[in-house]
Amino acid sequence: MNEQLTTDNADRHFDVVVVGAGVIGLATAFELRRRGAEVAVVEAAPMAGTGATRVAAGMLAPVGELDFGEPALLEINLLSASLYPDFVAAVEEITGHDTGYRRLGGLHVALDRDEASELKRVLELQLSLGLDSKWLGPAASRELEPGLHPGLNGSVLVEGDGVIDPRALSAALVDALDQLDVPIAFSTEVTSLLLDDGAGQSDPVVSGVRLSDGRTISAPTVVAAGGAESGRSEWLPEADRPPVRPVKGQIAELRGDPSDPVCSRILASERVYLAPRNDGRLIVGATVEEMGYDTAVTAGGIHELLREAYRLLPDIAEMEFIEATAGLRPGTPDNLPVVGPASTPGLILATGHYRNGILLAPVTAVAIADLVESGAGPGDSATGPMSAAAPIRFRSDGDSSPPERESTTGDRVEAG
Ligand SMILES: Cc1cc2nc3c(=O)[nH]c(=O)nc-3n(C[C@H](O)[C@H](O)[C@H](O)COP(=O)(O)OP(=O)(O)OC[C@H]3O[C@@H](n4cnc5c(N)ncnc54)[C@H](O)[C@@H]3O)c2cc1C
Repeated sequence: MNEQLTTDNADRHFDVVVVGAGVIGLATAFELRRRGAEVAVVEAAPMAGTGATRVAAGMLAPVGELDFGEPALLEINLLSASLYPDFVAAVEEITGHDTGYRRLGGLHVALDRDEASELKRVLELQLSLGLDSKWLGPAASRELEPGLHPGLNGSVLVEGDGVIDPRALSAALVDALDQLDVPIAFSTEVTSLLLDDGAGQSDPVVSGVRLSDGRTISAPTVVAAGGAESGRSEWLPEADRPPVRPVKGQIAELRGDPSDPVCSRILASERVYLAPRNDGRLIVGATVEEMGYDTAVTAGGIHELLREAYRLLPDIAEMEFIEATAGLRPGTPDNLPVVGPASTPGLILATGHYRNGILLAPVTAVAIADLVESGAGPGDSATGPMSAAAPIRFRSDGDSSPPERESTTGDRVEAG
């Protein structure tokens, strides 16, 4: 069990407090700790990975998920996919857990002629970006995946995409943090950001967080990894609250015989995707709904998923139905994540990962650890492709100076 933050150690000084134990917060805490930082994690729920991370299908699909007009996102996604083998190896080596990571490739299927012309446009986009995808006719498609609907028109094979089990990954990361002596405060919400008007400083700087039970944790750096909550998190100073909105997604989980799997790679049509797990489970996803913070599983949503899954792979009819769940993707106006220093010195944002948060965990963790190590402040951004994720892009004036605050020199003040 992770060491809890007790009354004794809650007032301990940490280098970094990470708010949120979804895949982003956990991976970030792991990377920071591996580089020697003293880190604490705070999570509102009774256990880790209960937000969007618990619901995610776990596709690591930079190519399969590519959409028109998102070249910066593709670069970040590809970079993170390339970091995955080392990331998983590090977590699995420390814990001995199997995270279900496999680069099994994906097959994107057109079931009729209309879908085929749309899919060929996507293939052209992939080829124009130098990606290694190829068109397969019906016979070649069914040679790879014999369970596909016999009437299919064709498919695009994407060899490099992969999968992981996000729940297994979260559990492994929690165990790894435990072994690295990183305390996680569960069932504890961060209610405000502590700011210090230290003598001689013109702007208030982060000095820690206040928790829902009244305790405080002091740290000069706070990483906000609250997922879809980030856009309405009152503990974040208003000027630093990112424009993150919840985008609801429903999935269904089926179980089959692991020794005779219904498919051996990710299968996708225009309307549904199927992600296989090692133990014979199959994740059928996902709806994309603008419903605010609603997480109800609906008959209509699940009906649509199962109908489309059956059109693609009729064998699913024989599988056991295990569960249906819904979660909230942290969406942003440009579909890019929000990763980098906020305008309040010491506050770093790590959110807005929308449909790719599982894929983007390693690149986010590395970017944040680099920023912390280099002492980056307001106005700085992550390096390389991740610079496109800088929070400053959403400040209307492009100004990185901190928001004005009511505070007096030497006093501790709280935002939110
Ligand atoms: C149906 C569905 C399918 C998906 N499929 C994929 C996929 O195949 N591949 C992929 O890469 N991505 C996928 N995603 C997206 C992915 O799940 C998210 O992008 C990712 O999980 C976001 O992780 P996170 O850690 O930012 O957020 P979360 O997992 O939501 O975690 C945030 C955590 O912060 C905590 N928190 C918030 N505020 C506070 C506070 N004030 N104090 C303490 N704790 C707080 C919350 O309790 C929560 O546990 C999918 C999402 C959905 C909904």
